[in-house]
Amino acid sequence: MRVAVIGGGIVGAAVAHALLDEGHTVDLVDKDGSASAAARGNAGWIAHLDIQPLASPKVWRHLPAWALDPLGPLSIAPAHLPRLLPWLARFVSASRPSRIEANSKAIQAIQRLSMPAWERRFAALDLGGLVRRRGILDVWTDPAAFAASAALHKRMDALGIPLERLDNAGVRRIEPAFGAAIAGGVLFPTGAHVADPAIVLGKLRELAALRQARLVDGKAARVAPSGDGLSITLASGETLTAERVVISAGAWSRELARQFGDDVPLDTERGYNITLAPGALGLTRPVMHVGLGIATSPLDTGDRIGGSVEFAGLDAPPNWKRVDAILARLKRTLPDAKPGEGTRWMGFRPSFPDSRPVIGRSRDDGRVFYAFGHGHHGLTQAAATAEIVAALVAGRTPPIDAAPYSPARF
Ligand SMILES: Cc1cc2nc3c(=O)[nH]c(=O)nc-3n(C[C@H](O)[C@H](O)[C@H](O)COP(=O)(O)OP(=O)(O)OC[C@H]3O[C@@H](n4cnc5c(N)ncnc54)[C@H](O)[C@@H]3O)c2cc1C
Repeated sequence: MRVAVIGGGIVGAAVAHALLDEGHTVDLVDKDGSASAAARGNAGWIAHLDIQPLASPKVWRHLPAWALDPLGPLSIAPAHLPRLLPWLARFVSASRPSRIEANSKAIQAIQRLSMPAWERRFAALDLGGLVRRRGILDVWTDPAAFAASAALHKRMDALGIPLERLDNAGVRRIEPAFGAAIAGGVLFPTGAHVADPAIVLGKLRELAALRQARLVDGKAARVAPSGDGLSITLASGETLTAERVVISAGAWSRELARQFGDDVPLDTERGYNITLAPGALGLTRPVMHVGLGIATSPLDTGDRIGGSVEFAGLDAPPNWKRVDAILARLKRTLPDAKPGEGTRWMGFRPSFPDSRPVIGRSRDDGRVFYAFGHGHHGLTQAAATAEIVAALVAGRTPPIDAAPYSPARF
């Protein structure tokens, strides 16, 4: 079939490859050659061991302190609040214990598929050299919070996730850049990251073109039934036709889904980072600085320091003070770091209040599929999502039950 994939970020690019595997003819449509994709500048973690939804006791514990700091790890722009209210109401509802349990299960199922799916994809494209397997480390400065985290780690252990709890000396043995401020840490030895997410995305797009996918530059303004198929009208006025359409436009997917009867509560959690010279922080593996809303990544192309969740919509200009605030907070765990100048970036996480993506058919037209809303885990879950979407397009049973990701859950 001819399939148009709308949105050529990491999810769309991975979906394109899975569709090419099945022998489909693929148009990968992107409004700006994927320049604005969140996948361009993210932290590069294949965070397949994260099993907690954002709406969890962890966030609620920190919320009172964070809410008081406009540049803190989580903030809401007052102008965006009215539009965000329905999302927030669902977020509160997602924090009930029964919902947390259901959301965790849905997250675990797709996370379990994520690493094997990337391994298959990277092996098929000969890109295995882009994966770094040095594990992922969480560190705490607050001894009480570190002690409290033991309950979660016990649950993770019971799920078979390898991990090692470390005291200060244990953390410093594997990451000597840390000092006395660290109360403890947890090493996840099977955690992984990529050389640089922009390189991964660039390679996927380039190889899709080599496999005869057509990379179309243009913003899809309207998708509609037309004759036996579907027509995609670009903002330029040009029209494409397809037998199937996959909407994978990240944080911009909501309007497109609305055209097919699905009013999904998609919002964006904007995130910021700064990339310094390689080795600037002296850390050898990705680190989550728990409670500070900071993740650091030793990418091949530079040390990236990022995080923060800002609800301010798609159009507000970046607030670069947030990067200064991230660097100031980093002093808590790495007091001797001298970050200096670097490249600042802001990206749009496409987020649902239950921390699950939407993967499935549209309500009004069985030929239109969705693959968006992966929040903090779009790089992690892209290859898994692609395998699910390819099965749904082919009418096969997907590798995991897709029901928990259906748009109909809203
Ligand atoms: C600071 C930060 C750090 C992160 N770190 C990680 C991490 O370490 N690991 C991880 O797994 N995830 C991480 N994420 C999340 C991850 O980047 C996203 O979940 C992921 O990029 C979403 O992929 P996507 O393809 O759905 O969207 P995107 O990557 O945003 O791509 C969407 C694409 O759709 C295109 N588009 C939009 N509208 C249209 C239209 N109408 N027509 C045509 N094209 C359109 C856009 O141009 C864009 O290229 C991070 C995000 C941020 C912001």
